Amino acid sequence: MLQSLFEPRSVAIIGASTKELSIGNVIIKNLQKFNFTGNIYPINPKAPDVRGIKAYKTISDVPEDIDVVHLVIPPDRVPDAIEECGRVGVKNVIINTAGFKEMGEHGAALQNDFVARGKKYGVRMFGPNCQGIINTDPEFNAYCDFTFTYPKPGNISIVAQSGGVGAVIMQNIFDLDVGMRMYASNGNACDISIPEIIKYWGDDDETKVIILYIESLDDPGYFMDVAREVAAKKPILAMNAGRTLEGAKAATSHTGGLAGGIVTDLIFKKTGILSFKDTQEMCQAAIAFAAQPIPRGKRVGMITNTGGPAIIATDELVDGGLEIPELSAKAEEVLKKTMFASASINNPIDVVATAGAPEFRSALDVMMNEEQIDSIYINFVTPPFVDCESVAKEFAEVSSKRIKPIVCNYMTDKAQWVETTKILSDGGIPFYDFPGTAAKALVALTKYYELKSRDKGTIPDFKDINADAVSAIISKAKAEGREILSSFEVYAILDYYNIPTSEWFIAENKADAMLGAEKIGYPLVLKADAPELVHKSDAGGVVLNLASAIAFSSAVAQMSQKFSDIKHNYFIQKFMPGGKELIIGAKSEKGVGHMIMFGMGGIYVEVLKDVCFELAPISDTEALEMITSIKMYPIIKGVRGEKGLNIQSIMDVILKISKLVQNHPEILELDLNPVMAFENSVAVVDARIKI
Ligand code: ADP
Ligand code: MG
Repeated sequence: MLQSLFEPRSVAIIGASTKELSIGNVIIKNLQKFNFTGNIYPINPKAPDVRGIKAYKTISDVPEDIDVVHLVIPPDRVPDAIEECGRVGVKNVIINTAGFKEMGEHGAALQNDFVARGKKYGVRMFGPNCQGIINTDPEFNAYCDFTFTYPKPGNISIVAQSGGVGAVIMQNIFDLDVGMRMYASNGNACDISIPEIIKYWGDDDETKVIILYIESLDDPGYFMDVAREVAAKKPILAMNAGRTLEGAKAATSHTGGLAGGIVTDLIFKKTGILSFKDTQEMCQAAIAFAAQPIPRGKRVGMITNTGGPAIIATDELVDGGLEIPELSAKAEEVLKKTMFASASINNPIDVVATAGAPEFRSALDVMMNEEQIDSIYINFVTPPFVDCESVAKEFAEVSSKRIKPIVCNYMTDKAQWVETTKILSDGGIPFYDFPGTAAKALVALTKYYELKSRDKGTIPDFKDINADAVSAIISKAKAEGREILSSFEVYAILDYYNIPTSEWFIAENKADAMLGAEKIGYPLVLKADAPELVHKSDAGGVVLNLASAIAFSSAVAQMSQKFSDIKHNYFIQKFMPGGKELIIGAKSEKGVGHMIMFGMGGIYVEVLKDVCFELAPISDTEALEMITSIKMYPIIKGVRGEKGLNIQSIMDVILKISKLVQNHPEILELDLNPVMAFENSVAVVDARIKI
């Protein structure tokens, strides 16, 4: 339980300082300025008081049980200080001090030392190398942090691995004139973790929205469990940075190379977290989530008192997948009576600049009553010849019924329209300075609805697979210390899972190669086959379309010469011309299972990177989503009279690969590149498996 951390009755600062502009002073100043309702205990061996508060020489001298201790002392002294905190029964220690794991070996050893000591006493540790926590609940007003934003109470809670980003988010929400509930930035996270904090806020009724910023997940499995549980109760908006960093490293497969740091985003999607690529967009969406209901569809009703901004907003809404439907005849009837003659009475309703409270109210009521409208977008410029306060009151009144979400592009001078702004703000109308910004916030609300309401589909149970035989193959390779399976093993595995391959034969010598060729029949493909040959065609190890025994035997002869220095086999395959090349892959991710990749294969993989990922196990719906989500989907479906590919059989391969890696987690990486896809069938022609 993190209650004593977020709802402290007493806070001590070890390293309290009389020097202004020192962290040991700022933390006390913040507690004072924020009207902390509990007791503050500066710990300082020399000063009799700090910032006017009586100081104690050691933590043991404090006459009260301590909920939270801040440590603002040099790293080498932290282990002993934690030991002392443990002895006197301190519940939580926020280690603001840096210089631990993030600083190399000595720091890591120090961190391990103090963590072990703290655990011995059951002290919960927050940080190190961190800011701390804030709770705006007036019962506590706990500002256990050295930042500078003083948020007003609200219902957005923010957790950020990076204090810098956390502070930016907090300030941005503040600038948007919206309140915050709790804040946490836990740096190195040696003990109290982000999932634990999210879980705590999941049970906090006053937290309506959680904002999350992370750079890495220490325990993705635990994170997923918590995220699923909490996201079922309230919206979590998240951003993950560093997604492009990992990719280039250690890419022994296409799937690995293309995946980059995408796994965190997949975890977000799978657990129902809405992910963002931009911090500001996330903050702007958060204030809409905090104040407005979630729409039940993607159809927007627009109300505007000015032309241009409505056009900009329309573009943004439509780009975001939203629709702006026509209004019903009944609605038009009403509007004809209530609007000015110059108004435009369909969607968007242009109430015109002279419109006052009655006109806006009628437009809002119509939108609220329309069956085919799920959310409302308002452009509101404040004309000096209109009673804008009355207009704003109507917005607030309609919004308070929480029937459909409202967002507002509010175009004004807030310094002049102070009262109007206050009415909107107090009324929980999320307002923005630009039409595109307001539209994006509405797109986010709608995306969240889609994320939550999407049909998850079913994970098929295949009967035509032989998992035991595959386990035997993998165990044997493992026992022999091999990481890359031989082609024979790979294709046997595909056969055991009934994944269609082009007919194949593996020959160790030229004579066998001729026999294999006769068995499969021409035209054939000949490939040099050895575990170390990763890109066979680059090395000249692939000869296509061998139409006769003569052509084939000369290709075999050439190949044996070219690869005379590598022990290799001859991989013989039916030539399958005229297909579209797809790539299907899998990659194991620590603590999460496997990512499955799908995309256009062959040369396009590298150039267009037109691939998508999903976490296994994959359902039928997800497999279809993967296929339809790539840019080249129209090619798969068939364009301009050209026949499309067999989508069902592509789905089958994706689903079987998902099943394969789930049944055999030893598989680290798998590439089917390409899978040749035709109008009626598919066939794998190149495959690699790493265990
Ligand atoms: P690598 O990826 O190691 O270079 P592949 O086995 O994928 O080797 O072959 C390279 C390319 O040759 C494939 O992308 C595909 O265009 C073509 N190809 C390979 N096998 C066949 C086949 N059986 N039928 C038709 N084309 C093939
Ligand atoms: Mg290939």
